[in-house]
Amino acid sequence: MPTPTSDDAFAEVKAKVDLVKVVQEHVRLTKRNKDFWGLCPFHQEDSPSFKVNPQMQSWYCFGCERSGDVFTFVELIEKTDKRGALQLLAERAGVELRKLSPEQKERSDMRRRLLAMLKLAAQFYEYVLWSTPAGETGRRLLAERQVSEENARRFQLGYAPAGRGFAEYLRAKKRSLADAQEAGLLRRDGTDFFAERLVIPIRDERGQPLAFTARTVRADEQRKYINSPETPAYVKGRVIFGLDLARDDIARRGHAVLMEGQFDVITAHGAGIQNTVASSGTALTDDQVRLLKRFTDELLLVFDADRAGRQAAQKAVLLAAAHQMRTRVATVAGAKDPDEFLRAAGADALKQWEELAAKAPSGFEFGMEEAAAGLNLGNANHVELAARKLREWIAQFPPALQEDYRERAKRWMGVSGHLLAAEPDERRGGRPIPSKSGKNGLERLPAGKKVTVGRYLLMLLAVRPVAFDRVRTKITADELDEEDRGIYVRMLETYERGGVSGLEKELAGYPAEEQDLIRRAWAAPPPNVDEEVAVELAERIRLDHMRGRHSGIIRELSEAERGRDSERVARLEAEARELARAISDMERRV
Ligand SMILES: [Zn+2]
Repeated sequence: MPTPTSDDAFAEVKAKVDLVKVVQEHVRLTKRNKDFWGLCPFHQEDSPSFKVNPQMQSWYCFGCERSGDVFTFVELIEKTDKRGALQLLAERAGVELRKLSPEQKERSDMRRRLLAMLKLAAQFYEYVLWSTPAGETGRRLLAERQVSEENARRFQLGYAPAGRGFAEYLRAKKRSLADAQEAGLLRRDGTDFFAERLVIPIRDERGQPLAFTARTVRADEQRKYINSPETPAYVKGRVIFGLDLARDDIARRGHAVLMEGQFDVITAHGAGIQNTVASSGTALTDDQVRLLKRFTDELLLVFDADRAGRQAAQKAVLLAAAHQMRTRVATVAGAKDPDEFLRAAGADALKQWEELAAKAPSGFEFGMEEAAAGLNLGNANHVELAARKLREWIAQFPPALQEDYRERAKRWMGVSGHLLAAEPDERRGGRPIPSKSGKNGLERLPAGKKVTVGRYLLMLLAVRPVAFDRVRTKITADELDEEDRGIYVRMLETYERGGVSGLEKELAGYPAEEQDLIRRAWAAPPPNVDEEVAVELAERIRLDHMRGRHSGIIRELSEAERGRDSERVARLEAEARELARAISDMERRV
């Protein structure tokens, strides 16, 4: 509900705050002549290129070339928007933002009182959990869930005792019980709404509690979780759980890990995966994606392993794509949710997690795999069905992505092009005609053996060796999967010695398996063998390789951080950042 604000408010606030002081809260500044200099908070650097001009109340970075005034600085540093920056600075400057109507004023006062009450409640519950005998059941539940005190305190977990503990506390502190009722903390009879439950504060991205979700500690209780009602302080679907704790790591790693449940997030943070957040209580909403988008352009989704979780993941992929965010989807095989997966891994959790994350396909690929799940792509009828499902999947993405996705789907499945581009037929009510001859289709490859990108490239090169000229400028042999590397190098050498007809002459000297692959390619060439495709395949291989290397560096980084090796951390961070940039450049093209 952005309210229009007059330029006056900006001018008034700007006149009352000092840019130098605001910047100094985040950057150590040194005065040189008239200006102040410091290390830029918006890019990594070793010598100061960030300059603040106090006369002009402006700043400029010679490194990343960002610049602006106090509002842009606050926008960037607090990851908020213009309106949010205005609000923060207005509060600081004691400027009241606009004349509010009596109802608006009432609502805004109420909100302020509720926020204070929620903060107080969180402190009370946390105190009960750790410092009173009543908290014992809560502490036991945490121990069962392998949540350490340190980690629990980070999330400010608490325990609501039986009876009227919170009401009594408020009375003793002479605080309003009505506000506590309004905030959903007390029932009408004054008993605690969350009584006998472990209480988890839902905090906004600045750490202010807005609501609670609470898990029962009683075996006979039917409702395992209960939640705060919506209040003037809390609108469901607008908060991201854990964002206050994860935001720095999200910025550092360049992506957020999005899970479903609060305990997934708590366990993940405990295991050292501190860029993890959850949509909290609802399916992912538009507002939540917009909020996340302020912090990152990439989400790694890790939802429950059941059907509902996989469907939720697909919806999240589409929602994120609508906001131009990239996604990947990791699946916790053998566990019902990330919490269970990480706890089962014990001390090995971080390592197993990194492996899982490194394997996670893009959101689009995940949806393709779901579409083709249970189908045998060696069977013509199944191929047709899978193609239809893939078309439906692709059609849900923003139009700008669809053509590229159709191409990828074609290669991924090995279906002839018209199967995936047959919407006009469908619109007329007809069915797409499956390729009868299947003359170039990969569907003629032995069933059950999925063609990897690397294999596709090798087959293409067997049929069209001249494509080596361009492919070799795009990738080196060590970027290929190990199993493709040997044959690639052999074929390249053959091509160098004997040109386009070299392979026929030298083939007999190849290992039997490689001969087999090449002969099969000759007999049934892949659907598309032009050089453009070869280049695309090579770039995809390169991209995969880079992603693998990136995950490797991230793994190394956490090791270096544990060892407090700051020099190595800085070097690895720089390397990771550079690689991430190269990857995202490439992703735009591939
Ligand atoms: Zn900079």
